[in-house]
Amino acid sequence: MTEAALVAGRLSQVRRRLAAVNGENVRIVAVTKGHATDAIAAAIDAGCTDIGENYAQELLRKDRALLAHCGNRPQVHFVGGLQRNKIRKLASVVDVWQSIDRLNLGEELARRSPRARVMVQVDLSGEQAKRGCPAAAVPDLVAQLGELGLNVIGLMGIGATGTPEQARPGFAMLRGLVDRLGLSECSMGMSADLEIAVQEGSTMVRIGTGLFGSRPLEQQKSDR
Ligand SMILES: *Cc1c(COP(=O)(O)O)cnc(C)c1O
Repeated sequence: MTEAALVAGRLSQVRRRLAAVNGENVRIVAVTKGHATDAIAAAIDAGCTDIGENYAQELLRKDRALLAHCGNRPQVHFVGGLQRNKIRKLASVVDVWQSIDRLNLGEELARRSPRARVMVQVDLSGEQAKRGCPAAAVPDLVAQLGELGLNVIGLMGIGATGTPEQARPGFAMLRGLVDRLGLSECSMGMSADLEIAVQEGSTMVRIGTGLFGSRPLEQQKSDR
């Protein structure tokens, strides 16, 4: 089977899983980390309109031309750990900044890309590697980003490690914060826990392995 057919088949499967929990309208962000440009092209051909990227260098390599594949330029979401000094180069490529978790990133972004669409990444698990702003500090950060002129559209979070069910309390907390702050987007749920996330009110799931299979071994860790 061709890569395109494989990805298309997996996308239908993800859509069926979403439909099974009444999530037909939930947006699918195809997270392509570690996968070659063919995989992204296949996802776009299969109808993906939103692509998620984790690593600055990797995203810059997958150039604009590919992202404009077939004239259907996808929305590019940056979902990985972000360093302030990478923002300038990424500013012309990224449409939605999902991993803003501190003010100095917002300040730099407001300089390079005024009125950019951003989401605040919230810590749902206390696990260091997953980053995110502590929940208690989120209202102030959202307000400050707004004052900088950024367009804060919602919040993003990564579910706690463990069984999918163990991610539920964090997802419920994130949705509560989205509502309390009057935001519209709630980005939560990945391949393993998308059902739980949708049940708790996700508007956007970020799917990697569920679309592209397991990740190639070499990952650009040094690129963070
Ligand atoms: C890798 C990644 C995903 C996708 O994870 P899968 O389990 O492969 O679906 C989603 N969000 C972020 C922030 C990621 O780094």
